[in-house]
Amino acid sequence: MQMDLREVRGVGGGLMESEKTSFSRRRLMKAGAIALAGSAAVTRGYAQAAAAAPAPAPTGPFTLGPLPYEPAALEPHIDAQTMTIHHDRHHKAYVDNLNKALVGAPELQKKTSEELIGGITLLPAEVQKAVQNTGGGHWNHTLFWSLMGAPGAGVGGEGEGTALGGAIVKAFGSFAKFREKFSDAAMKRFGSGWAWLVVQEDGGLAVVSTGNQDNPLMQGVVPNADRGKPVLALDVWEHAYYLKYQNKRADYVAAWFNVVNWTAANALYEAAVAPAVKKGGK
Ligand code: MN
Repeated sequence: MQMDLREVRGVGGGLMESEKTSFSRRRLMKAGAIALAGSAAVTRGYAQAAAAAPAPAPTGPFTLGPLPYEPAALEPHIDAQTMTIHHDRHHKAYVDNLNKALVGAPELQKKTSEELIGGITLLPAEVQKAVQNTGGGHWNHTLFWSLMGAPGAGVGGEGEGTALGGAIVKAFGSFAKFREKFSDAAMKRFGSGWAWLVVQEDGGLAVVSTGNQDNPLMQGVVPNADRGKPVLALDVWEHAYYLKYQNKRADYVAAWFNVVNWTAANALYEAAVAPAVKKGGK
């Protein structure tokens, strides 16, 4: 159990660590940019040349972590090419565009992606939508990768022997009923979005769905009834499945159940319900 928790913390912890490293780099870059701007003002010609040159793309503070397994690890259920393009291009684009969105907001660069999206409506209007889409995209995908794995011990199946597996049966009547409800949420999401299993404020489980890169942490963006801490996440954007499954989203959803990492999901569940248990004891 302890190892499970550490594994999941490693996802968030690792992200923050790399964010901090990149933040220092970003500050150095910014210092360089200020020096450049100062010298550019010396001569009009140089200033014009500097203005014409495209600004270098920011490389932080947010960084793209590696996939926690080989791209082919989820085959045949999710193919290597889809995983590579999804991670290396789509997820990377969210990270790059999040960094771009925060170029003029040094205070926001210090926050984690979870802090940014949790307080999305408190952000300045000029960056709010960009952070909702790109910060959401970054956070959602980081979680998504961590909640899958190569079929084997603790992956696939029905979460047997875990607290989460037991809670699912209790909340939905049976694993089959949960699976039906979750699949239904994934199928009924019109266009692009996500299906989630969340732990709500009262400690109960709920299946919800969000559009685009929104997620159940986004207070003021998603309805309060759909808010909670995600313990399962399924990307139903076409880019997540189109190469292998084309328009057959149902087949992709069914295949995804074979690669659900119940060990990781259960660690998130136990962390999410721990405060509620404490509260109840007071
Ligand atoms: Mn995606």
